[in-house]
Amino acid sequence: MSAFKKIVIANRGEIALRILRACQTMGIRTVAVHSTVDRNLKHVGMADESVCIGPAPAGESYLNVPAIVSAMELTDAEAVHPGYGFLAENADFAERIEESGFTFIGPRAETIHLMGDKVSAINAMRKAGVPCVPGSNGPLDTDERRTRRMAEEIGYPVLIKAAAGGGGRGMRVVHNPFDLVKSIELTREEARAGFGDATVYMEKYLQNPRHVEVQVLADSHGNAVHLGERDCSMQRRHQKVIEEAPAPGITPEQREKIGRICTEACKRIGYLGAGTFEFLFEDGEFYFIEMNTRIQVEHPVTEMITGIDLIQAQILVAAGERLPFRQEDIIVRGHAVECRINAEDPNTFIPQPGTIEAFHAPGGPGVRVDSHIYDSYTIPPNYDSMIGKLICHGETREHAMARMRVALNELVLTGIKTNIPLHLRLLDDSGFKTGGTNIHYLEKLLAKNG
Ligand code: ADP
Repeated sequence: MSAFKKIVIANRGEIALRILRACQTMGIRTVAVHSTVDRNLKHVGMADESVCIGPAPAGESYLNVPAIVSAMELTDAEAVHPGYGFLAENADFAERIEESGFTFIGPRAETIHLMGDKVSAINAMRKAGVPCVPGSNGPLDTDERRTRRMAEEIGYPVLIKAAAGGGGRGMRVVHNPFDLVKSIELTREEARAGFGDATVYMEKYLQNPRHVEVQVLADSHGNAVHLGERDCSMQRRHQKVIEEAPAPGITPEQREKIGRICTEACKRIGYLGAGTFEFLFEDGEFYFIEMNTRIQVEHPVTEMITGIDLIQAQILVAAGERLPFRQEDIIVRGHAVECRINAEDPNTFIPQPGTIEAFHAPGGPGVRVDSHIYDSYTIPPNYDSMIGKLICHGETREHAMARMRVALNELVLTGIKTNIPLHLRLLDDSGFKTGGTNIHYLEKLLAKNG
């Protein structure tokens, strides 16, 4: 079915298992590369081969490019799937893979590079007709008067952002002209120290936006499709907690319009693979903030409403095949919601690695569990605290939420603390029930109720 015979999975946890499942479905052999503390990961046991690539710290294993390339050579693999996080958006890694004669399952290195710098990404997108947040349209220079004038024109509050920033770091809101210059200096310093690049730019600070993102897929034959949007506004410290698709209140016409803008932009920049256009959505308008050039944690909600296997599609187009569907074949059906299950204290949010005593996954119609955990599995303290995702699909939003409530109550997970109580609380929250809350909603709710 596919041009690849063997793929290296350069990741861990639930996404490594997800990729392994897609490969097995396609008849592709798999190689798990893992750190010394990850020998007991579920996908390591299930893979055709496994190679230990280093000790627990990610810098010495999951980010160890020479070790991963050696593993590919050693096992005679043809391609590498990076998952999300780690090396997924590292242009140097993608380039090194291609130079070594292998295939990187993702966009071309130059696309990753272009989108990795927020200033160049915004410029490319603006040129391609994607609506962006009003802003400096480029890096800020040292001309204080010009910068002040710009901020006045954009209108306070403005946001100073690091071009190389990520994960919600390297940003500063400025509410008035008195703080402007100082804030720019501070953000520059942080950017230099944190990302090795002091380039900063300015954007209008939107006060109550929602986070709405559009999923795209593109092949190397000039075809691109969109798979509708997701709403990921339920966030804490810029980390998504619950995601859903479609986004409440977005009309089919709005979906079609923004989707078409994204697919046209993909064609224009020669995009390849799966990608996400992230927008802030306020007063009925979309404002592009960045593009993610990888598969995302929340991809299952899109899979549930479209019936399309996004990882399989990534693998097919990386192998040079055409997208097996056209835009008109993609139909959004029902509603899906995803709760990220984290091993953390539900009140303090402090990670709680440890040994799972018992785990029973929920089931039934429309219920999907993407998780690598099992009875007596020990969660190492070295990585992200997310241990799985529970995804529910229903005919309507209410139906999907009702299934989620049943599934969360059915799920048994003992031995560690998790954020399941928070999810149950949110499912009963009136604002969340209504839908369409903004990106500040969860933090305000937590601040109010403790
Ligand atoms: P990152 O790479 O850190 O995710 P983003 O540019 O996506 O960087 O910004 C992270 C988050 O910061 C967004 O999800 C949103 O919550 C907030 N944000 C970014 N730009 C703006 C803006 N112009 N106005 C208001 N909030 C913003």
